[in-house]
Amino acid sequence: MNIETIAIHVGQEPDPTTGALIPPIYLSTTFERAEDGSYPHGYVYTRAGNPNRTMLERSLTALEGGADCAAFGSGMAAAMSVFQALRPGDHVIAPDDAYHGVTRLLRELMLPWGLEYTPVDMNDPANVRAALRPNTRMVWIESPSNPMLKVADIAAIAEITHAGGAICAVDNTWATPIFQRPLSLGADLAIHATTKYLGGHSDVLGGAVVTREASPFFERVRFIQGNGGAVPSPFDCWLILRGIRSLPYRVRAHAEHAMQVARFLESHPQIERVYYPGLESHPGHTVASRQMSGGFGGMLSVTVRGGQTEAMGVAARVQIFTRATSLGGPESLIEHRASAEGPESKTPPNLLRLSVGLEHPNDLIADLAQALG
Ligand SMILES: *Cc1c(COP(=O)(O)O)cnc(C)c1O
Repeated sequence: MNIETIAIHVGQEPDPTTGALIPPIYLSTTFERAEDGSYPHGYVYTRAGNPNRTMLERSLTALEGGADCAAFGSGMAAAMSVFQALRPGDHVIAPDDAYHGVTRLLRELMLPWGLEYTPVDMNDPANVRAALRPNTRMVWIESPSNPMLKVADIAAIAEITHAGGAICAVDNTWATPIFQRPLSLGADLAIHATTKYLGGHSDVLGGAVVTREASPFFERVRFIQGNGGAVPSPFDCWLILRGIRSLPYRVRAHAEHAMQVARFLESHPQIERVYYPGLESHPGHTVASRQMSGGFGGMLSVTVRGGQTEAMGVAARVQIFTRATSLGGPESLIEHRASAEGPESKTPPNLLRLSVGLEHPNDLIADLAQALG
């Protein structure tokens, strides 16, 4: 089945009891036992499992080409479950520019909990090999990364990770399974903030862990989901599944518009540099072209000539772009990342991050042109 068909049908069969095409939302927290004490439909209590969550997990499993999926109440809860499924004393390698929340989670919560952690520049897979320790249990990849749009060679790093006896997890939020399928490149886990492109409408928070195969590690993730309790509500699952139906077509338009905006910005005298893996000038373009297909995503960053004042000036003058964090919704967003990340941020002060939306690209380009002056 092609991915457009998967997005519409897997996990979304008509309701067997009523024939409803669109699944009902099962708000019930508890489920009836049969006279013999069994649970004939497999559901006991909604924290442990809910029909809407099952539908979403089946859809995400199929989209990533995996064996199973655990859905969470946020992308961070998904990341947290993966780190908690490790043991104190285990060592994790993660990108030096990983999503800010993931870096903070590792530094502020998981280090005190007992994980060891090394941030690494994953532009060069050799840096990962050099950072391996005997107790390395996980290599966490994010590609393209946030906010520098660095590209990591997933297949090469997965091989190095496995040779070191560790698990390879890829945060695939920015690329989406439409443009990049980490499990087919050798990764063990694909992680998502479904809050972003999968939900796709800036109105629901969610996360997911998809596994390539059944494993004791994934069983721990599943245990943390049901017992830690950071689960998505049935309505959240329903909304994300609703977003997924149009995912392939939405993200292709995002990527097409991002490419046009990137080319415009690349030619603008006020712009110092454009970070978008679709541009031939991007250092990760060759690897991105090999491991992504159909597009390079809807996210890009630029550095503005001058400094923080000039960059914030551009963000202050936009009319169609909205100054806000997050990404993946139909509306275009612009963000001064360094001030969003706070004092320990390593992001250049003149950098703006753009989530290119589904408005007409000519309007977006005209808006940036007037804001750049
Ligand atoms: C947003 C995001 C997250 C965190 O997801 P939440 O749903 O906000 O918790 C993790 N990784 C990446 C790449 C993201 O963009």
